[in-house]
Amino acid sequence: MNQKGLLIVVSGPSGAGKGTICKELIHRDHDIVVSVSATTRAPRAGEIDGKSYHFLSKEAFETMIGSDSFLEYAQVYDNYYGTPKQFVIDRLEAGENVLLEIDIQGALQVKRKYPEGIFVFVLPPSMKDLRHRIIHRGSETADSLEKRLSCAYSEIEYIKNYDYFIINDTVCHATDILQSVITAEKCRVNAEIEEIVKRFKEEMENA
Ligand code: 5GP
Repeated sequence: MNQKGLLIVVSGPSGAGKGTICKELIHRDHDIVVSVSATTRAPRAGEIDGKSYHFLSKEAFETMIGSDSFLEYAQVYDNYYGTPKQFVIDRLEAGENVLLEIDIQGALQVKRKYPEGIFVFVLPPSMKDLRHRIIHRGSETADSLEKRLSCAYSEIEYIKNYDYFIINDTVCHATDILQSVITAEKCRVNAEIEEIVKRFKEEMENA
């Protein structure tokens, strides 16, 4: 059956833990491929070029914008981030399920181009918890911490544009919910159900 894969878009405020949930999801579910984003921000300790991100110069990123190579891109905290388009198209066409972990501006762009995607918003249990998590990560200066927190607060309004929300109380529970969402979406009755009906019909006729 030539079934297209699912596009799963996970976003939410920085520090809500969407990265950790996505890592746990792909650890559990080997049928999901992750889109590696491009960014102009500097690598953090332990990050690997081509795996964590494609780390690009501003010039290289802008060349990719010029050649329409991004499914979406956005400026997040003074840096560019974007999803290379061809990888996503090829994997979906091959029937694979593709996971994007991107910010809200990017998710809204993807929704306009690909409304059949599954849009999932990850929330922290509370703002206090969010502050704790960002501080604990230790990668922010006091200034950028405040910037991320105030952004997070205003971004929560955008949850109305999403299909599902997950409160990240524990990684295990949040990932269970994400897996349930994906399972439910795989069972959705859509245009592709015709293929299944046809198969049953053929089986009946040939019996
Ligand atoms: P970080 O610098 O902490 O890795 O990521 C900062 C923010 O950029 C996070 O909210 C992350 O989800 C988002 N981000 C990562 N990759 C992309 C991308 O390809 N496109 C967009 N729009 N946002 C991204």
